[in-house]
Amino acid sequence: MTTFPNYIDGQWTMGTQKVPNVNPSDTNDILGEAASATADEMNEAIEAAAKAQIAWGQSTPQQRFDILDAIGTEILARKDELGDLLSREEGKTLPEGIGEVVRAGQIFKFFAGEALRIAGERVDSVRPGVDVDMRREPLGVIGLITPWNFPIAIPAWKVAPALCYGNAVVLKAAEAVPGSAWALAEILAKSGLPDGVFNLVNGIGSEIGPVMIDHPKVAGVSFTGSVQTGRSVAQACAKNLKKVQLEMGGKNPMVVLDDADLDVAVGACLNGAFFSTGQRCTASSRLIVTEGIYDQFVAAMTKAVSELKVGDARDAGTQIGPVINARQLEKDLEYVEIAKAEGAKLVCGGDKLGGPGHFMAPALFVDTDNSMRINREEVFGPVATIIKAKDYDDALVIANDTEFGLSAGICTTSLKYASDFKAKSKAGMVMVNLPTAGVDYHVPFGGTKGSSYGSREQGRYAAEFYSVVKTSYTQP
Ligand code: NAD
Repeated sequence: MTTFPNYIDGQWTMGTQKVPNVNPSDTNDILGEAASATADEMNEAIEAAAKAQIAWGQSTPQQRFDILDAIGTEILARKDELGDLLSREEGKTLPEGIGEVVRAGQIFKFFAGEALRIAGERVDSVRPGVDVDMRREPLGVIGLITPWNFPIAIPAWKVAPALCYGNAVVLKAAEAVPGSAWALAEILAKSGLPDGVFNLVNGIGSEIGPVMIDHPKVAGVSFTGSVQTGRSVAQACAKNLKKVQLEMGGKNPMVVLDDADLDVAVGACLNGAFFSTGQRCTASSRLIVTEGIYDQFVAAMTKAVSELKVGDARDAGTQIGPVINARQLEKDLEYVEIAKAEGAKLVCGGDKLGGPGHFMAPALFVDTDNSMRINREEVFGPVATIIKAKDYDDALVIANDTEFGLSAGICTTSLKYASDFKAKSKAGMVMVNLPTAGVDYHVPFGGTKGSSYGSREQGRYAAEFYSVVKTSYTQP
């Protein structure tokens, strides 16, 4: 039996509790057994990280560059093997799995370079003869909590900047995807990082998550997951006066205007709403379409959605893989019923498909209203709705009328509307003629309102969370 152990203070450990890692495309396929840590193991990892951080925080930019660059190189060299593992345990298609692995490798390479560019500032003091300088220093030990839907990219976009700025790390990946986190840990373990600088402590979030957050030696927590869990993480961090960063859900709008190129719009909406089985925080779940193109768009979109090929994530030709697990599938199907009961009209999909995995036919609703629950709550599955808008101004109001604010898109050939939407959208990321999902790895990622809390992740902006500014005054 393959095992996915935890990695604590430079040692691999299966501990005393184990859980099976199940393939969502075929529940008879068990990838192996994963370690499920206890509170004691979490405490042990944090103590090790606190000890190791002191020397790592004083390592040179060259040492950090060499290690992060080597990690990136190995991830990229093993993209097919790691992509296959990811696709087998998470259920996104193989090309999507490989693409995610490539992104993880690129993120490590980006932060390798950033380690060489950690800059301070020097200014003249307002007092004569005094020098003032400002420098970025490590935060200390950082707790990282990640969700299941990007099992290698999200750990990468937290681990890489944490190490780049001289912090030590305890990573707790989601219960459903221990294999990808283990594979990443395996690469980190061989990279030359001193023992204790990186620790993997997988286990049940509600049990060991609070142990991590409450530990006095954890200086900050970076969390990605649901709003409900994020809120509890933020409350616990506030109680302990810890730095916290949250990335949470979305109810992302995609506006399609009368002047849109229909093929571009359908392509962007299909990708944004349904690829990765709709299990992306940036998924376009609300398609807001103006009157002049509405009928044409509904017909073209219905045809495109009903032709999507659902199947085993690793089969050639599969466009939509399974839902992550039985609980999420049940939730998706429940939302289909909620939408129907609210008066939304189902034009295709929406039912459970047979097979050995958690398959669902992608669902598309029309005649929906933005006040319906299906348009207000995140489903996190292959379910999208179409909302009719009178004109651009109406569409903009509907797009911004949400408790979330992660990503928003517009399909238009008008520079005037594209520019106006970029200025007036209340989302943290705006896409023009592109799906709401799918972002670059070298620029900031994050949203507004209920989608994000704290400073931005990724790109140069990651420095805000992963470092502290110290101001020094010197009278020579
Ligand atoms: P989740 O909130 O259930 O779990 C996220 C992580 O938190 C897991 O590792 C889990 O074990 C842990 N956890 C659970 N209870 C905890 C507790 N009490 N204390 C500390 N940690 C705890 O989310 P999920 O189902 O894994 O992921 C789906 C959600 O993630 C969706 O809402 C999606 O929109 C969001 N997401 C957001 C982004 C983003 O960048 N904004 C990216 C991907 C996913």
